[in-house]
Amino acid sequence: APYTPDIHRYDLMTYNRCGDSGLKLPAVSLGFWHNFGDITPFEQMKSLVFTAFDNGITHFDLANNYGPEYGAAEKNCGLLLAKYFKHYRDELVISTKAGYDMWPGPYGDLGSRKYLLASLDQSLQRLGLDYVDIFYHHHPDPETPLEETMGALAQAVHSGKALYVGLSNYDGPTMEKAAAILAELHVPFIINQNKYNIFDRSIERNGLKDTAVKLHKGLIIFSPLEQGLLTNRYLNGIPADSRIAHDPRFLNDSSLTDKLHKQVVDLNNLAAERGQTLAEMSLAWLLHDGKVTSVLAGASKPQQILDNIGALKNTHFSDEELKIIDEIAAR
Ligand code: NDP
Repeated sequence: APYTPDIHRYDLMTYNRCGDSGLKLPAVSLGFWHNFGDITPFEQMKSLVFTAFDNGITHFDLANNYGPEYGAAEKNCGLLLAKYFKHYRDELVISTKAGYDMWPGPYGDLGSRKYLLASLDQSLQRLGLDYVDIFYHHHPDPETPLEETMGALAQAVHSGKALYVGLSNYDGPTMEKAAAILAELHVPFIINQNKYNIFDRSIERNGLKDTAVKLHKGLIIFSPLEQGLLTNRYLNGIPADSRIAHDPRFLNDSSLTDKLHKQVVDLNNLAAERGQTLAEMSLAWLLHDGKVTSVLAGASKPQQILDNIGALKNTHFSDEELKIIDEIAAR
C-alpha cells in the first residue's frame, strides 16, 4: 500500500536553525545506527520511519558502516525511500558519513581523499540517491593532513554529491582548524555531530561545544540517551527486547553496574517529579540551554519516538534541578 504521511506532520515539531546556515533541523532527529540492519524486520523499520516523518522528524542520520552488515542501514533506507518517500525527497534531510572501518585494505578507513570520495559514491548507490544533504567525516584522523580530508569534503560538495558537510567526534581546537580550511575552500560546513548526555560531558571539556557556539556551527547530539541507559528501559532488569539483550555489539550488561542503576533510578525519580519520563528529561536537558540544534536519538519502537518528541513540551530546568542532575551524574 502507498504511504500517505500525516498532513499535520509539521504542526508540533520545533525546527532549529543549524548554526548560521539556511538549513533547519528538527529538534529531535532519527538515527539509523541500530534497528536498520539486516537483523531487524523490514516492517519494524517501516513503522519507525513512518512514525518519525508523520511527527515532523525530517532528518534521518546514517553512516556507511551502519548495519549489520556494514552498508545494510543505507541499503534498507534506500529501499524505504524508493518505496514510500519518492515524492518526499525534498522534505527530508539525509546524512551519511565515512571515517571508520568500512572495507578491507588501506583505502577503507580513516581520512584519506581516496577513502572518503569512494565511500560517498558507494553510499549514494546503496541509498539510491543522487546526493546526500550532509556528508560527514566520521572521526578525526591525526595521520592524514587536515587539508586533504577537508579537500575531499569540498569535492563532495563541489561535485554535487553533498549539499553541506559536517564533522563528527572532533574536539574544539581541531574543529576550529578544519573550519578555517573549509571556509577558505568555500564549503558549507554547518554541523558537528558529537556524543553528549547527562552522563557524558566530554564536549564541555574538549572545547567542542563552546567552539561550535563561537563559530555559529550547528551541533547535533548522538547517543543522547546513552544507548538507552538514560531511559526507563533498565529500571527493573534487562528486558529481552532491549539493546543489551538483543544487540550487544556496543552496549552489554557490563555497563549496567549497581552504581549506574542507582543513578538511573534517582534520575528517573527526578524526571517523575517533573512529570516526564527519563527519556524525555534526558533529551530536554540537552536542549535546555539553546546551544544544541538537534538530539539524534535511536529507537526500536515507534512509541519511543513519540516519547522522545514529548521532551519538547518542557525543556526548562530550575537551577536546583540542574544541580541535582550534576550531582547524580558525578557520583
Ligand atoms: P540513544 O542514546 O538515543 O539510544 C537509543 C536507544 O535507546 C534505542 O535504540 C532504544 O533501545 C532506547 N530508547 C530510545 N528511546 C527510548 C524511550 N523513549 N524509552 C525507552 N528506551 C528508549 O542513541 P544511539 O546510541 O542509538 O545513537 C543515536 C544515533 O546517533 C545513531 O543512530 C546514529 O545515527 C548516531 N551515532 C553517531 C555516532 C558517531 O560517531 N557520529 C556514534 C553513535 C551513534 P532499545 O533497543 O533498548 O529499545
